[in-house]
Amino acid sequence: MSKFRFIALQELSSRKPLEVNVPKGDIADYYGCHVFNKKNMQKYLSDTTIEAIKDAVDKGRSISIEEADLIANGMKSWAKDNGVTHYTHWFQPLTDGTAEKHDSFIDFAQDGTPIERFSGKVLVQQEPDASSFPSGGLRNTFEARGYTAWDVSSPAFIVDDTLCIPTVFISYTGDALDYKTPMLKALLAVDKAATAVCQYFDKNIEKVSVNLGWEQEYFLIDSALYQARPDLCLTGRTLMGHSSAKDQQLDDHYFGSIPSRVTSFMKDLEIECYKLGIPLKTRHNEVAPNQFELAPVYEEANLANDHNQLVMDLMKRIALKHNFNVLFHEKPFQNINGSGKHNNWSLSTNTGINLFAPGKSPKGNMLFLTFIVNVLMMVFKNQDLIRASIMTATNNRRLGANEAPPAILSIFLGKSLTNMLDKLEKEVSNEKMTAEEKTALKLGIGRIPEILLDNTDRNRTSPFAFTGNRFEFRAAGSSANCAASMIVINAAMAHQLNEFKKNVDEMIAGGMNKDEAIFREIKLLIKKSRSICFEGDGYSKQWEQEAEKRHLTNINNVPEAILKYESPSSVEVLTREGIFSERELESRVDVEMEKYTKKIQIESRVLGDLTINHIVPTAVSYQNRLLDNLVKMKQIFDEKECEKLSYKRRNLVIEIGEHIDALKEMVEEMTEARKYANNLNNVRDKAFAYSEKVNPYLDKIREHIDALEMEIDNEIWPLPKYRELLFTK
Ligand code: ADP
Ligand code: MG
Repeated sequence: MSKFRFIALQELSSRKPLEVNVPKGDIADYYGCHVFNKKNMQKYLSDTTIEAIKDAVDKGRSISIEEADLIANGMKSWAKDNGVTHYTHWFQPLTDGTAEKHDSFIDFAQDGTPIERFSGKVLVQQEPDASSFPSGGLRNTFEARGYTAWDVSSPAFIVDDTLCIPTVFISYTGDALDYKTPMLKALLAVDKAATAVCQYFDKNIEKVSVNLGWEQEYFLIDSALYQARPDLCLTGRTLMGHSSAKDQQLDDHYFGSIPSRVTSFMKDLEIECYKLGIPLKTRHNEVAPNQFELAPVYEEANLANDHNQLVMDLMKRIALKHNFNVLFHEKPFQNINGSGKHNNWSLSTNTGINLFAPGKSPKGNMLFLTFIVNVLMMVFKNQDLIRASIMTATNNRRLGANEAPPAILSIFLGKSLTNMLDKLEKEVSNEKMTAEEKTALKLGIGRIPEILLDNTDRNRTSPFAFTGNRFEFRAAGSSANCAASMIVINAAMAHQLNEFKKNVDEMIAGGMNKDEAIFREIKLLIKKSRSICFEGDGYSKQWEQEAEKRHLTNINNVPEAILKYESPSSVEVLTREGIFSERELESRVDVEMEKYTKKIQIESRVLGDLTINHIVPTAVSYQNRLLDNLVKMKQIFDEKECEKLSYKRRNLVIEIGEHIDALKEMVEEMTEARKYANNLNNVRDKAFAYSEKVNPYLDKIREHIDALEMEIDNEIWPLPKYRELLFTK
């Protein structure tokens, strides 16, 4: 057995679940103790200062430098009481993860005496060097500074000995370099647009918030085995590996009992999350072996997304303590399920109404219908933009792989709601409606809650499914920042609602009664957007054909999908709603293209290296053993006997030789393709070259390696196999 594999397996046998330190008392006693929340603020800040923060969060009022000083001082005292020595602005650059640069509280007075200081100025703004973060050309090399600025709406928190302050990250010239800035803008846009529409129905509605409940899927792999797989370490996925004889075919992992070593990891994680005020609720095994999921209770979208980013970071660290590595890659293993991140999305009002849940009165149901129908139109019109937000090198390996919807956008509504829309489409006449017709319609709409009660149907194959009181967007990848898709979905929703309001207002201005104008617009939207609704199996081949007939788009090529950020309709949505300037948008596309190129480039290099220095030598040495054997056979048996007794081994020698030649040849060709792509100057051309000329080699090379894995002596195979990686307890 190879040295690495031997050490890894030996280590593994000594693994025991780690004892977890459970804090004393109920969860409620320590929940949020590491967050500068209202309870902690009350101990360290005056009522007026707390009021200033509240005004900033609720009304967008800015915080004065004097107030900031008071807040910073209180924060520092709280943090110090919790053993904190450092602080950091915590932000979300356009990479896979968060960024932080820790500074100590230590400072020196004029006479050189050391003091601990944390001023309002430092709390509110910092100037980290932006030159090493993706900017898509927004940042000139001669002006490397970037700014981070405090996001008052997301509370500060403590991790280890560090006070973390959530911030936005922008360039010296004021362009967004992160996910949070456009996310906050999109949430504001949808608030404004949705509130205006709500006002048709209820004048008390003054604010609409976006809710997000994410579900995070992931794999856990024993660290010893992980370390013995250079491809996992460097790319997050296995670039080779024959399927295990048993994997998920017996469906015995989903919702099965969780292995004790994993439970101990989950417990540890939950405790840390509760301290950070992250409301984790659900944990379970997923479909593939060693795959799991966790989900919190939904929260306001900006906070929910910060929490997701924070949880991903905590998971990586806590997993290591338990001798696991966590994999967020969307498809770490071929032929078994990959991981997604469902985004459960809803809108709710300051009056406590969920706009995607049917109301208690006909008026409430009209509001519900208005929003549902606008979602249909929003997705219909923005299929390409929504797809652009989730297409990455890694997620592309999962989409359409019989476990995740293909790159076609569609909405599942359920039977009852579908029937309801059918009726509406027919019943609203094109003539002026009579009073009776309006009453009948309202009565019908009044029955929606009863109809929806039996709507328990849960279509798992739809990328955008209505699940009773929210939409579940399932195409996002497990490694993604939720903001990427939340930005475009909310921006597009804002845009659609603004259009809706404009059209209804025009009809009203033309003398039509308000209710009738709304009915008419709803009917029109149902008619126009109907082709986006699909109730069948989203994984099936028939759906792809059907979708084509309906003229729905289906783009599998990543760079091509990303380019749709710049289609005229996407630019209209994103710039008109003030989410991105055209410059920012162009830079985002460049960043995504570069990310794609780099990911494929790394995979291609790692695969090339492993092929040449792991696989080919192993194959050659096994082939030599076979040849030795054949030579010895010849010494003992005569030619005829020998021919008869060893022809299978001869064939194997030839077969292995063919694989070796094919591998060498393809690695050379792939290297040439990389060279060609690397010489292109334009980042977009480069991404296309990587997708068309380099990417196809990854699967082709793998086929030969996986075939060799089945032919070569297990003792000398240099990498842990799927059956070992996926079944450690
Ligand atoms: P499932 O696996 O059946 O889809 P889960 O219970 O695992 O569902 O996750 C559902 C997620 O949806 C949770 O995060 C939950 O808090 C969230 N959720 C529930 N209601 C809403 C809502 N109105 N808006 C947004 N998210 C919601
Ligand atoms: Mg779900």
